[in-house]
Amino acid sequence: MLSTMQDVQLTVTRILKHGMTIHGRSQVTTWTGEAEPHRRSFAEIGARAGRLAHALRDELGVQQDDRVATLMWNNAEHVEAYFAIPSMGAVLHTLNLRLPPEQLVFIVNHAADKVVIANGTLLPLLVPLLPHLPTIEHVVVAGPGDRSGLEGLNVRVHDYEELLAGRSEAYPWPELDERQAAAMCYTSGTTGDPKGVVYSHRSIYLHSMQVNMAESMGLTDADTTLVVVPQFHVNAWGLPHATFMTGINMLMPDRFLQPGPIADMIVAEQPTHAAAVPTIWQGLLAELSANPRDISCMKQVTIGGSACPPSLMEAYDRLGVRLCHAWGMTETSPLGTMAHPPAGLGADEEWPYRITQGRFPAGVEARLIGPGGDVLPWDGESAGELEVRGTWIAGSYYGGASGEPHRPEDKFSADGWLKTGDVGVISTDGYLTLTDRAKDVIKSGGEWISSVELENALMAHPEVAEAAVVAVPDDKWGERPLATVVLAEGATVDYNSLRSFLGESIAKWQLPERWALVPAVPKTSVGKFDKKVIRKQYADGELEVTLVEG
Ligand code: ADP
Repeated sequence: MLSTMQDVQLTVTRILKHGMTIHGRSQVTTWTGEAEPHRRSFAEIGARAGRLAHALRDELGVQQDDRVATLMWNNAEHVEAYFAIPSMGAVLHTLNLRLPPEQLVFIVNHAADKVVIANGTLLPLLVPLLPHLPTIEHVVVAGPGDRSGLEGLNVRVHDYEELLAGRSEAYPWPELDERQAAAMCYTSGTTGDPKGVVYSHRSIYLHSMQVNMAESMGLTDADTTLVVVPQFHVNAWGLPHATFMTGINMLMPDRFLQPGPIADMIVAEQPTHAAAVPTIWQGLLAELSANPRDISCMKQVTIGGSACPPSLMEAYDRLGVRLCHAWGMTETSPLGTMAHPPAGLGADEEWPYRITQGRFPAGVEARLIGPGGDVLPWDGESAGELEVRGTWIAGSYYGGASGEPHRPEDKFSADGWLKTGDVGVISTDGYLTLTDRAKDVIKSGGEWISSVELENALMAHPEVAEAAVVAVPDDKWGERPLATVVLAEGATVDYNSLRSFLGESIAKWQLPERWALVPAVPKTSVGKFDKKVIRKQYADGELEVTLVEG
């Protein structure tokens, strides 16, 4: 028997219409680096999204399913593109501006993007690529920047504001099928080639509702979220869509992503929430210890993308800012888990929950698969690869303009679950603790050593600014850990003391013998430790390694 309920399609258009009317007064504030930031209301953003859609259709000939790329910072214009492109039935493709040029070329050609909307300040990155991007017919330039490099290239160039000027803001948004493609994002290729994940209107709608639930980010129109996580990094973790559902104000850093300006914008605009990867919060912490400022307006910060060292959480607790750990992937939209402790616990009892990756929302099912392929119990001890499924989890990768979607065996199980490549345990009450990425686990003499556990323990040392641990080949044990350490300014600690410090919390057989001081840990395009690079530096003999044995 079928239900008697209406069958309304869950689309980005509905989110847009809702945000621009019901929450029309909420604001997107974009940092300009000048005395005053730029402010635009949701109502204005909605109106301008209508004009942008007109321009894209009437002037540039964008049709249903055409891919429109963005190469932009987090700002109001990028939010307009977020809503206009999917709502008109085209597909928003956010480009990661920190990728190496050859990967950007691969991605744009694979997606066969027709248009790219770029911030003027990013043209030096885009212009040299354009001769290798045959599908791009139009470049739309938003904001300041030298445009002369575009002259003489085989593309039509438009100014964003001129394109919008004089056009109607009333766009006849089409009725879309909720399963249609709305946006796409390529994995950042931390491990392997970038792969295209295509989000549907439905997946974005449902994911946005989850972001807004109290058990996730749970913000309201009384809040302002500082969206540091780039709009090209898994849709800024879903925030731009989620904010239009509930009227949360957005504070956008544009290109001012250094710790100093981030601290300034927090003090000036008093956001109540923020979202970014651990590297950003590490950098801000160093800035605040040099130039103290009060950032306690931020009641909650969502931190994820890589493991948050517990020492970082403690440091922010002392500043009156609560970091809440979240786990996710490009393939999971990205909200997979969030680490809110169960209700009714005291601070000490909450701690063991806060340092986990968190628990799964109702929309995400999880299982752990053991080395033999068996499903493991949730007992807090049995470690296996995490697999997930749900309404905002990818079921395949984009196959290119003429190809079929593909489901590589190492990424999808035969029964359709996403293999995350992350290894961990789940407690009896459903909290996930990740010990490593399967590819980063150190396999020493048949036992596994968690690189993340060693890193977290090292970063708890007051004289260590950052530490990354990777597996390196070892004649006797197969693999052993190599610790690369960035010392805090003025630190004098030596390897022996660091090793003894680790020995206080880590079993002796797991302690690294190989140590190297480095000026900085290499980072990926989204700010994660780039272990591929560290392993290569070691293999190429580029690190000055000292052997320390207990
Ligand atoms: P890429 O896979 O290219 O790095 P993603 O942003 O999709 O790009 O990365 C997803 C991966 O990031 C996860 O599979 C996991 O390994 C890691 N990750 C994300 N959040 C966390 C977290 N809170 N703790 C540990 N690892 C995390």
